[in-house]
Amino acid sequence: MFENIKGNEENKKILSKIINEKKVGHSYMFVGQTGIGKMLFAKEFAKAILCLQEEQCNNCKSCLEFDNNNNPDITIIEKEEDSNVIKIDQIRQMTLKILEKPIISNKKVYIINDSELMNEPAQNSLLKTLEEPPEYATIILITSREDLFLNTIKSRCTKIMFNKLSNEDLKQILKMKYNYENISNNMFLLFDGSVERALNLIDKDKEYEELSNIINNLEKYNVVDVLNLKEKMFKQKEEARGTLDYINLLFYNLVKKDIRYANCMKAAEKAKEKLTKNNNYDMTIDNFLLTIWEELNG
Ligand SMILES: [Zn+2]
Repeated sequence: MFENIKGNEENKKILSKIINEKKVGHSYMFVGQTGIGKMLFAKEFAKAILCLQEEQCNNCKSCLEFDNNNNPDITIIEKEEDSNVIKIDQIRQMTLKILEKPIISNKKVYIINDSELMNEPAQNSLLKTLEEPPEYATIILITSREDLFLNTIKSRCTKIMFNKLSNEDLKQILKMKYNYENISNNMFLLFDGSVERALNLIDKDKEYEELSNIINNLEKYNVVDVLNLKEKMFKQKEEARGTLDYINLLFYNLVKKDIRYANCMKAAEKAKEKLTKNNNYDMTIDNFLLTIWEELNG
């Protein structure tokens, strides 16, 4: 079980033990930031719960149908594409459906992804089922925002905490699963242990490399050069704050060599704040570039 999933080794042990000792509960909450494998764990756990053999076999009717996405005893509930919430109707439907006996397996599993998207009425609707679940049913709530749940929901669930992926694990996943290689170490700081973040940011690697060259050579430019580099450094206005985050990371790496970069970090933070408050874009960025240039050359 879980051989093909990277990271969170401790949870592999916990969940395997639950399966092996046949102590599967009725409700779990998988908590942790997005993009670290909570859904993969939930699916694997569900497959093991539904398996018809003593040990998860990958060969019984339940396992085979599971792998074909055809097992009627597993249901995944997510927000619909055109919606920002998990609708109460989806939950109501689930609470009715769950009363129907399993078809292939002896058990039924419901996974609710991004389950914090249930608003309070939806959560209350689910609560009744959590309080009196059918004996064959297990519900897994996946969430990155435990704080958005009613206490009455939380207290019913066994909580399993998930950690960020290590850079090594993340590197492996990006290589094996997505064919990405030779990603700079700085990028991994931005990925923050999340596959989702990595996939959102990864194509910026080249762009960021250019930026990195500029920042590392700031002292060699004169003031006019620096202002002319603006377009090169900030390719897209809308993403300026992300770019500033990255620049800050580069400064952070340079502080060890030269304490003046600490002030550059402050300037980047300030610029970010101004952009958040919708200050004039060009003025903010020009000011930022002038400030760091002066800091380093003044
Ligand atoms: Zn099986």
